[in-house]
Amino acid sequence: MSDQENTKRGLNVWIDPRRCISNAKCTTVAPGIYVIDDETQVAELVDFEGATVQQLFAGARACPTQAIIIEQYGQRVFPTILTPMFEAPEPIDE
Ligand code: SF4
Repeated sequence: MSDQENTKRGLNVWIDPRRCISNAKCTTVAPGIYVIDDETQVAELVDFEGATVQQLFAGARACPTQAIIIEQYGQRVFPTILTPMFEAPEPIDE
């Protein structure tokens, strides 16, 4: 196993086609890694093996609709899921 593969151990990257608006941000920051399909106009990850971890994340971070999801060992690592905010609890009377 090469160092490159080793650093990507457990990573899985997928693109939600419903969220992709085809604006080519991912393909600009990681050309040849992410490509927009001519027919579907949806981005695809075409070179996972050749991509660095930095390129994979750069594409995901550049996406304004968070269509690119990165998981490691089945756990989502990007975009992070934020805890919902609720109203501040009432102060406790003493
Ligand atoms: S940056 Fe996001 S919305 Fe734009 S082409 Fe890539 S995956 Fe689609």
